[in-house]
Amino acid sequence: MRPDADTRIQPLEFARRFLQLHDAAVENDTSAIEALVPQRLRTLLEVPEHIRISEDGGDAEDRDYHYTVTYGTPILERMIGNTLKTIPIAGCRLEFDYIKNGGFDRLLEDQLTFYGATAAIETVAAVTAEYVQVSCRYTALSDEQKEGLLTMVFNTDTGGVVPAMAEAFDTGGFRTAFTRPDTDIKHKITPLAEKMEQTARGLLEDRLAMFHASMNRRFQRDIANLEEYYSSLEAEMQKSLEKPGLSESARSDRQAKINAIPAELARKKEDLLKKYSIKVRLQLAAAMYIRTPAKKIACRLSIGKQRRQFFLTYNPVTRAIDPPPCTICKKPISHIHFNSRLEAVCYGCRK
Ligand SMILES: [Zn+2]
Repeated sequence: MRPDADTRIQPLEFARRFLQLHDAAVENDTSAIEALVPQRLRTLLEVPEHIRISEDGGDAEDRDYHYTVTYGTPILERMIGNTLKTIPIAGCRLEFDYIKNGGFDRLLEDQLTFYGATAAIETVAAVTAEYVQVSCRYTALSDEQKEGLLTMVFNTDTGGVVPAMAEAFDTGGFRTAFTRPDTDIKHKITPLAEKMEQTARGLLEDRLAMFHASMNRRFQRDIANLEEYYSSLEAEMQKSLEKPGLSESARSDRQAKINAIPAELARKKEDLLKKYSIKVRLQLAAAMYIRTPAKKIACRLSIGKQRRQFFLTYNPVTRAIDPPPCTICKKPISHIHFNSRLEAVCYGCRK
């Protein structure tokens, strides 16, 4: 579900969809679009009522109302700018010919380890599971700028991120029917907001590791150059103090300059730190609400003398059990510990 070279739409097609979405009357042949533009859109795009759009310049006689849409042209930029102002939320339903029916004991054993507890599957039931896929734009600002798109999928029931699901979408094995998202979709996404930001920042640490390393390398190199420069400057100034015939005032003037070097060096180092430190900005770009058939696995957990029920979801997209989130930090866990309240927690939160 990520755009690639085949699914990325061309500027003319984008313009056509944009105009239609904003209630313009659109007529198009393959190479150009004719449109009657409503008032509100005319103001937004700064165009007359009747326009013709194509990817080349058009003929001289229709220049007044002919617009070119290629990357970077003002009319396309205005359309893109307007589109980015709102966050599109789509919905879809997945359909499978076959969903795993048995062998969940084996899967549970392969995927999850319970510490100080044993788990036995009691029942497996067919259910409809809900997920939300969110795409975030990120901008990492330092001496250079890096931008990109990050896609994450969350199980809306547990609030846990499902690490492999965004990639698993691309491998297919199912049909996708696009539907209108439920009206309460915003209520389902809002509680996940903090978790999304936390997850995104975690994922970005990996993705930006090279960028961090490169900025750090340049920072160290500039620091070394700076130190070398100031130490040779100091040596030179010390030497000039030994010059015969130097007046007392010139001497004290130079000595003051030498004394000021450490403070100046510290200031320059501080500037370099600012220059190479990385600020990451995150912005929600799109969300997709996904409903899919799945299996709910009810387990009976024995923790010492105590018993409790524990629910897991078999996810037919990843063909795996969704790793349950740690009750405390919400990270997906496959090594499951239990705290004194018998809640599933990660190793770090187990106390
Ligand atoms: Zn934790």
